[in-house]
Amino acid sequence: MTQKLALVTGAARGIGLATTKLFLRDGWNVAMIDRDAPTLAEAAKDLDGARAFVCDVSIPEAVDQLYKDVLEKFGRIDALVNNAGVADFGPIEETTFARWRTVMDTNLDGVFLMSQAAIAALRETRGAIVNIASISGLRASTLRVAYGTSKAAVIHMTKQQAAELGEHGIRANCVCPGPVRTKLAMAVHSPAIIAAYHDAIPLNRYGSEDEIGEVIVFLCGDKASYVTGQVVASDGGFDSTGIGLP
Ligand code: NAD
Repeated sequence: MTQKLALVTGAARGIGLATTKLFLRDGWNVAMIDRDAPTLAEAAKDLDGARAFVCDVSIPEAVDQLYKDVLEKFGRIDALVNNAGVADFGPIEETTFARWRTVMDTNLDGVFLMSQAAIAALRETRGAIVNIASISGLRASTLRVAYGTSKAAVIHMTKQQAAELGEHGIRANCVCPGPVRTKLAMAVHSPAIIAAYHDAIPLNRYGSEDEIGEVIVFLCGDKASYVTGQVVASDGGFDSTGIGLP
């Protein structure tokens, strides 16, 4: 049987690396994409079926070259996971335009560029896109003007993709993780935020990288063949409570 190929961005660590390993477990090949070359090389080195591609997803020329390289190596694309992301927490008045742009470059422009460039190949396989947003895109908070806005836009972009690409058999869904103890989160979650999350989340804990990755892999696969345009929170029940983000 032909092996399917998943592109996973931000695959050098955290949720992207966990998702890569779950795809490999399920028999997929994976193109691991990240701009952090040394961390990516280390992460990919013992993973059979995975191949590392260094790319900054916010740079159009780099994305064009990436797709040439991936298609030359694997010849097909069955799923794209737009997982690469950066976080920035701060009040609106302290969020400089440079900080705003840094967040939008990766979290928003990166998802647009990677998705647009994947469409031709995804049409061939009737493949899937999964965009990684956040519970920060579902709720307003006092700290996340750039991050939350970028993730809310990713949620909407997913619905646009589902509406437009469905006629080609391409599905697009969005996963909104709750807090996970990755490098990204631990750089911005103060002890007060961590404690507040534990109280506010019905399951009273942070999630794991695998608990997010399993949802992503499910949405990319055939078992989700009639699921598109959906926003799935893997968040320990946080969004169901109506409690505000800490
Ligand atoms: P992480 O920082 O551990 O990993 C992110 C990876 O993305 C890094 O390897 C980084 O080098 C890469 N990356 C960043 N910008 C890039 C770019 N422009 N081009 C290529 N690679 C780039 O973070 P994580 O927590 O695993 O986050 C993964 C995704 O999950 C992000 O989109 C994040 O916003 C989202 N998310 C995380 C949490 C959480 O609590 N950890 C919660 C909700 C959503």
